[in-house]
Amino acid sequence: MSTADVLVIGGGLHGLSTALHLARRGAKVIILEGEFIGRHASGASAAGVRTLGRNPLEMPLALRAMRMWHKIEELVDDDCGFQAHGQLRVAETEAQLEGEANRIAQLRARGYANEKVIGQEQLGKLVPGINPKFIGAAYAAEDGAADPHRTLVAFRAAAEGAGVIIYERAPVRSMTRQGDTWVLETGAGVFKARKLVNAAGAWGARIAAMTGEVIPLSAKASMMMVTERLAQTIRPVVSIVGRSLSFKQSSQGTLVLGGGIQGRYDLESGCTAMDFHALARGAAAAGELMPAVTGTRITRCWSGIEGKTSDLLPVICPGKATGLFHIFGFSGHGFQLVPAAGEAMAEMVTTGAVPKAILPFNADRLTINGAVA
Ligand SMILES: Cc1cc2nc3c(=O)[nH]c(=O)nc-3n(C[C@H](O)[C@H](O)[C@H](O)COP(=O)(O)OP(=O)(O)OC[C@H]3O[C@@H](n4cnc5c(N)ncnc54)[C@H](O)[C@@H]3O)c2cc1C
Repeated sequence: MSTADVLVIGGGLHGLSTALHLARRGAKVIILEGEFIGRHASGASAAGVRTLGRNPLEMPLALRAMRMWHKIEELVDDDCGFQAHGQLRVAETEAQLEGEANRIAQLRARGYANEKVIGQEQLGKLVPGINPKFIGAAYAAEDGAADPHRTLVAFRAAAEGAGVIIYERAPVRSMTRQGDTWVLETGAGVFKARKLVNAAGAWGARIAAMTGEVIPLSAKASMMMVTERLAQTIRPVVSIVGRSLSFKQSSQGTLVLGGGIQGRYDLESGCTAMDFHALARGAAAAGELMPAVTGTRITRCWSGIEGKTSDLLPVICPGKATGLFHIFGFSGHGFQLVPAAGEAMAEMVTTGAVPKAILPFNADRLTINGAVA
């Protein structure tokens, strides 16, 4: 039997980041990962580092995360492949552009100046070769993208360097409380701790259910495509208003296409299947955005399972049981939040106080408790 101060269930980026920050605060932390580190959403991610278009409730955490991304070496001793080439959401019609301008005006009224509207001329300079039917865009210049696998390697190394012990192939099968201690039965033996972090991604509600807590959670399986290498011309990440497309060119020249096009998933096996009709629509949207890429060969595609809440905001809060804390359900946009969400979790787990930036993410909002309150 192994004992820690905190057991973290789930070795995705949120489990790793939480464990890292906890260990830096002096806690003895064990991560229990059912498969292997980064097996699900974190290893499948497009790794867009985006404040553009975020729900205003996420902005305090997202802006804290963005400041951390811009000096991510200080946290994990590696740049995680992060490049701040900006993110754009392009508009085809005057009505769409006006919609973006109104949204940005509302953000500014709340004190957020991370986005601005740009016209066609600046758009053409930022995205050479863009279809001239796109007349302008919302632009977040400080945004960018990272390398998901490099990020996983860096967070894992930093966490282990800080003393975190990681068990892979250690699925948590059941848990009980003995006095003030959690006792977890896993595929790699029995583990004990007074505190428990549920960072189990799409399986977060199942872990909560093991403690008797019901949290509504569904799932999604966003798909990604990568093409052969092209000459490097596009730096920002580009999406289109009202469409499921995110378009970026990696530093190797490949196009990395995603944006929430959905595949199929099975939570029991953890497997996904591609929907090639939906992928074809995504590829067609890329050709519409950048006519010159039409006909480029797609070399691989994949999909990753991610927890999804009804309001598309994460669950980051204390659980109902003593010593339990949740962090899951990032609904397709949790990569950017990784450094700051882990920091906030570590503060909550060690002090018991819920940091202001994560107050909107209490699970009660999703349940009858929230509806009654
Ligand atoms: C295709 C795709 C593209 C994306 N693109 C972006 C993007 O551009 N920008 C952005 O911000 N976000 C993006 N996201 C979302 C982002 O990747 C996720 O929000 C984030 O990685 C979630 O991390 P996590 O640690 O919560 O979950 P996960 O990485 O899924 O980790 C959860 C872990 O828990 C483990 N687990 C589950 N049950 C158990 C158990 N019983 N015992 C032990 N372990 C268990 C799983 O094996 C898994 O490894 C994308 C997601 C996908 C799938």
